[in-house]
Amino acid sequence: MHPENRLTADVADALRRLDALPPGARRREAADALLDRVRGRDVHDELWVRMHVIDAGHGLPQRVADLEHVTWMLDRVEAAEADDAERLAVLWRAKCALDTMLATPACGLDAVEQLADRAERLATAAGLSTRSIALVRARCAGERGDAAAADLLLAAAAALPVDALADCPTCEAREVALVRVRSDRGRGVADLRRAVDAPRACHQEPRMSFGLLHALAARGGDEALARWASRRGRPAVLAWFDRGEDAPAAAAGHVVGLALRGRRRAAGRRALVLAGHPTFSGHDLEAYLLSSAVACALHRAPGSPGARPLPEAVEDLRRTAAARAHALAEAFDARSGTRHRRDELAELLAPPA
Ligand SMILES: [Zn+2]
Repeated sequence: MHPENRLTADVADALRRLDALPPGARRREAADALLDRVRGRDVHDELWVRMHVIDAGHGLPQRVADLEHVTWMLDRVEAAEADDAERLAVLWRAKCALDTMLATPACGLDAVEQLADRAERLATAAGLSTRSIALVRARCAGERGDAAAADLLLAAAAALPVDALADCPTCEAREVALVRVRSDRGRGVADLRRAVDAPRACHQEPRMSFGLLHALAARGGDEALARWASRRGRPAVLAWFDRGEDAPAAAAGHVVGLALRGRRRAAGRRALVLAGHPTFSGHDLEAYLLSSAVACALHRAPGSPGARPLPEAVEDLRRTAAARAHALAEAFDARSGTRHRRDELAELLAPPA
């Protein structure tokens, strides 16, 4: 992934060894150690090593701590110390950092917009389209509950050209749908229905959209659409439950869909698998989606309130997941100044009919 001719030989070798490690904690530690060695030496060495630190997890800057690397790299781009390939690589990671910030309630929306301003300025100067950054602005307006501003910003984003900095069409369509669903659930669901048919898909799509569609259709009482989304998304979700692949948010959507559609035993069984997932204690938005799905399913599982009691260990899990989901919903709402997540959670945890 790095142009060898820009790197000193020992760093190029070290990065090749890093690339051979599977993504995860060990690769991240090795990348951090390498960064300690090259810090303050050659700009290109340090730039690529920082990118490897960011990418060592799952290929995206999922840790808030990585924002420091993104800021440092944007400084280099601003100072015209990066070449064309490096500029695109840095801006791509800045875009991912914006996703991480939106998914982290400790990051204020003003700070998200400031980073978006900066990325937009640098992308424009590099002759790149700011389509994906404009979509982030629309998502910020959606978070704030300003539907009119979000609509205008979505239209502005859609008018910009697609280029190397653009999101994949399915991911873009999904994010548009998720902005719209806040103010108009019917329209957002229809958008999501179209998103799963978008022409191209990346590694996380269309399974993510099928999971979200299953949950949203079930919440809206559209059994036919929920069943369709469940069936179409089923192979990818079963693969997740069997092999623990990434994108647990897709699996969370299916668990919510099953629980709300009265498939209580299946939802409960899968909730127990979700509860054991490592990101259950990681990324805030993912943790919210997972914990609210686990709470929703166990709340409705056979033996839940009103029926025979749940086994003690399962009841503990249910209580822990519900408390976690409530705390995260409050944190997201405190940032946005809305009741969006709390209302959503109240709907998921309403007494079963
Ligand atoms: Zn995608």
